[in-house]
Amino acid sequence: MTPLPGGCYCGSIKYTITLDDPESQARTSICHCGNCKKFTGGEHGITTKVPRSSFEITKGNEHVRVHEADNGGGVTLHREFCGICGGPLLEYGANAGDNIYVFYGTLEDHARGQVEPKGEFFCKLRDPWMPEIEGIFQKQEIKQ
Ligand SMILES: [Zn+2]
Ligand SMILES: [Zn+2]
Repeated sequence: MTPLPGGCYCGSIKYTITLDDPESQARTSICHCGNCKKFTGGEHGITTKVPRSSFEITKGNEHVRVHEADNGGGVTLHREFCGICGGPLLEYGANAGDNIYVFYGTLEDHARGQVEPKGEFFCKLRDPWMPEIEGIFQKQEIKQ
């Protein structure tokens, strides 16, 4: 078992993702869609897809806030963030099944190194100055 610890910006919320094999069970990807730009305040969102059952809040569960909205394509998008600092934690769409997408930057340094990006989504909305990342897949469509 490999524990991947993380938490929100202010540290009020802590979590652990526990996987047998992060290389095969986790998939980090970059998303250039408009929703990810707005929610994260950056050019893209970057999240790590893991089984929901592998994710456990270990501190500050009472501070978790939820925002739900249509993603623009008729699918409800669920996002969780810290009610104290406003920092993102995770997201999942109505079609995500038993998976959640944890915001990559919330993982601790050594944990991020075990789940480096495998692909990019919504590349048609990549900002012109942002280069493609070599050696990973590039897709035009929505993150799945
Ligand atoms: Zn916080
Ligand atoms: Zn996105």
